[in-house]
Amino acid sequence: MISADEALRIILDAVPPARKENVALRKATGRTAAEDIRAGEDIPPFRNSSMDGYAVRSSELKAASPERPVRLAVAGESSAGHPFEGHFRKGSALRIMTGGKLPGPADAVVPVEIASESGNRSVLFSRPALPGDFVRRPGEDIPRGQRVIAAGDLLTPYHLGVLAATGHAVARVAVRPRVCIVATGDELVRPDRARGAGRIRNSSSYALEGLVRESGGRPRFMGIVRDRKKAIRKMVREGLASDVLLITGGVSVGLHDHVREALSRCGVDIRFWRVNIRPGSPLLFGVSDGTLVFGLPGNPVSTGVTFLQFVRPALRKMLGRNVLFPSQFRALIDGPIAVKEGKRCYLRGIARQEGDLLRVRTTGSQSSGVMSSMLKGNCLIILPEGTTDLPSGAAVNIEFLRDPF
Ligand code: AMP
Ligand code: MG
Repeated sequence: MISADEALRIILDAVPPARKENVALRKATGRTAAEDIRAGEDIPPFRNSSMDGYAVRSSELKAASPERPVRLAVAGESSAGHPFEGHFRKGSALRIMTGGKLPGPADAVVPVEIASESGNRSVLFSRPALPGDFVRRPGEDIPRGQRVIAAGDLLTPYHLGVLAATGHAVARVAVRPRVCIVATGDELVRPDRARGAGRIRNSSSYALEGLVRESGGRPRFMGIVRDRKKAIRKMVREGLASDVLLITGGVSVGLHDHVREALSRCGVDIRFWRVNIRPGSPLLFGVSDGTLVFGLPGNPVSTGVTFLQFVRPALRKMLGRNVLFPSQFRALIDGPIAVKEGKRCYLRGIARQEGDLLRVRTTGSQSSGVMSSMLKGNCLIILPEGTTDLPSGAAVNIEFLRDPF
């Protein structure tokens, strides 16, 4: 039995480099940038006003006061998309709207609220303006040539906005890995079929499809396969055409657990089987011709936890993502936690902020069959190997279950 760290190292070492493709910007949210992207132009591209008001030469308003306001002639107007084309004479002010281009000699904007325009095309200023007031300088947000996105960044809606602003209509992204999912078990029934005696519904493959999608992969559920060696081999052969194959169940030591043997007979090089963790210790990992194969334990909690801890980092690495793991936080436990074994444990917990402290309690039964713990909980409490019984108030590491990064 190997350690969780060793298992992760073996998995990540086997990940092939990301493939790249172009996608239309509109479709790029949730994808992973495959290359560094630099700004093609300054943002903002030219000097413009951040307020509706008057563009002025600040030197001409130095002496302005409520008692002795300065009067300037209105030279014309500059609004967003319609720059002033005329000559901006000394002694004049220009009506300017937010986003309007500043004429060369103007160096400040006076907001409309603190100026008073009179009918005869002139405007009174009763206080000075400082150079740069309400002026957005070219490149002050993003200078041309600056790296705006790094290879491996997850593209969020804001990234799309920055890409568009800097003149990119397409994004170069990592190809989403194709992930085949197979559920094994004589007991499994589809959710829309009558459930016979002694049978349960296949639930894990649905959770896995969602997890794969959330992790940037392209899931394909291949169906339920019975605990028959030949049937499993057939599914495995089909599944090996994908980038990743996930098989749930049948990977433990029961009489009807045939997955390991089936994988071997299909030529999968099994790199490890069984990891010193709880839940999920029967986890299996192998490689066949560049396809990563995971045998995930059948208990739904074990399936979910081993996906999060071992499959998600692999998918992220396949995408070339620069963050493979969720952030960990320290939290204080509300009650004692008894730890029986030397394994690394992943307990489902409910974390909350209390004053300045993050506190966490377990969701209750930690049996790997209790699927509802993944709903009730918002985090995993991670206890390192060799942890002994923890008293109430002890500090533990947690990882939020719904971490967008
Ligand atoms: P196994 O790993 O095949 O020994 O299965 C362990 C437990 O998980 C058994 O109680 C199975 O019935 C259950 N199980 C296996 N696969 C699934 C699945 N796809 N959905 C829900 N429960 C499952
Ligand atoms: Mg089974």
